[in-house]
Amino acid sequence: MTTTVVRDVPKQLFIGGSWQEAESGRTLSVDDPATGEELCQVADASPADGRRAAEAAVAAQAAWAATPPRVRSEILRRAYDLIIARTEDLALLMTLEMGKPLAEARAEVAYGAEFFRWFSEEAVRVDGGMMTAPDGRNRILVTRQPVGPCLLITPWNFPLAMGTRKIGPAVAAGCTMVLKPAPQTPLTTLALAAILAEAGLPDGVLNVVTTTDAAGVVEPLLRGGQIRKLSFTGSTQVGRILLAQCADTVIRTSMELGGNAPLIVFDDADLDVAVEGTMVAKMRNMGESCCAANRIFVHTSVAEEFASRLAARMAALKVGPGTEPGTDVGPLIDTAGQSKAHDVVQDAVKHGATLLTGGELPAGPGCFYPPTVLTGVTTDAAIMDTEVFGPVAAILTFETEDEAVTAANATEFGLAAYLFTQNLDRALRVAERLESGMIGLNTGLVSNPAAPFGGVKQSGLGREGGRVGIGEFLEYKYLAIPTG
Ligand code: ADP
Repeated sequence: MTTTVVRDVPKQLFIGGSWQEAESGRTLSVDDPATGEELCQVADASPADGRRAAEAAVAAQAAWAATPPRVRSEILRRAYDLIIARTEDLALLMTLEMGKPLAEARAEVAYGAEFFRWFSEEAVRVDGGMMTAPDGRNRILVTRQPVGPCLLITPWNFPLAMGTRKIGPAVAAGCTMVLKPAPQTPLTTLALAAILAEAGLPDGVLNVVTTTDAAGVVEPLLRGGQIRKLSFTGSTQVGRILLAQCADTVIRTSMELGGNAPLIVFDDADLDVAVEGTMVAKMRNMGESCCAANRIFVHTSVAEEFASRLAARMAALKVGPGTEPGTDVGPLIDTAGQSKAHDVVQDAVKHGATLLTGGELPAGPGCFYPPTVLTGVTTDAAIMDTEVFGPVAAILTFETEDEAVTAANATEFGLAAYLFTQNLDRALRVAERLESGMIGLNTGLVSNPAAPFGGVKQSGLGREGGRVGIGEFLEYKYLAIPTG
């Protein structure tokens, strides 16, 4: 089964509707983070391959923009059905190349597919408007058109959903695309491209380039003058570089960047709900999520109780390969991810934090890290401004609401935040003051295809999903009509 799903995925670049080797013949290795062993090789694109992919997207743009919305909608709907029908294969593929437990991979298939269903419904609802100018002598006719060929860059943590969240609205809006997935997890994207082709997506509308030379392939495309839109999900550090490149050719951008989510537990919270919500906000995807709770602020009066309950839950989780039944926590993506998690734990302890559970770097193959809970974390610990991307819960305490909000906002990031309270006045008051694009109230999960996903401050620009998601791929055009 394992070898079959990997064997069946195309291993080449997808350009203009055909599967092609990289011009150089080079390939890159895809590894299983649970074992460190190679799963397979896929094509490793050079800048010349990237240019060919962009040319294919540019060539397909006019016909695709002219394709009726209903046709585009039905392609997405068919792709949704195909993804759901192949849930088991896609889930296994993701677990193999990325590490998450199969149950979480299945949940991602459902979540990721939903972007196609959602945007299949949005494709036929793009509207404009007509109004009379204030002077009464002009009519203003407003239409919306696809922005043009897009470059989509995705990370490795949600290999399916990060692709569908960008492809869905681009297809719905009538844009063509070059998609560059993360080199760690190209297989899910290649499988997705094959599914879209099977669903009837015309040649050249989606082109996929897998590469280890992200900078070399991407920069010429952004400077080439033909790509009209960049949609990027990844680190703030890389996002800044890409924004600078986009400035030169005034390319529109949607940037989903890093996070440093605060999670606040007030003294009036239902502690069962708070612990459960924290488990989700912290442990979904092994903590490898830009929405993961990174700093947990708990009111002093409930801090000890909360921490010991959380530590008991974390210690009970089963760590192991994602393919093994019963695994709760899979390996981290690579040894760099593993070392980063361990470094922030050691640093926090050095600064005075106490380890309640976890904190030991396991020996042996695979990039595993144990669920870890730290209490008494100090504000000068590195974890306070490092996106851990691992199963490490850092707990601090606070006395007043004001103190909690100020501490939560003391970061350059502003993606997700979580708050636990049973007092509705307080919930609304605090939510208004929190500087973040998404807030979970008594829940640890904010991701939803029907909601506008995105951040403020250095967590990004623009929103994905929801009613506004398609707008990121559309331009307004208006016609001035004098009426005498
Ligand atoms: P992470 O640290 O989570 O891997 P990155 O921001 O490095 O996040 O990567 C996110 C995506 O951006 C990946 O597809 C990666 O290959 C790509 N990427 C990394 N560096 C660059 C770059 N200089 N130009 C374009 N894309 C890049």
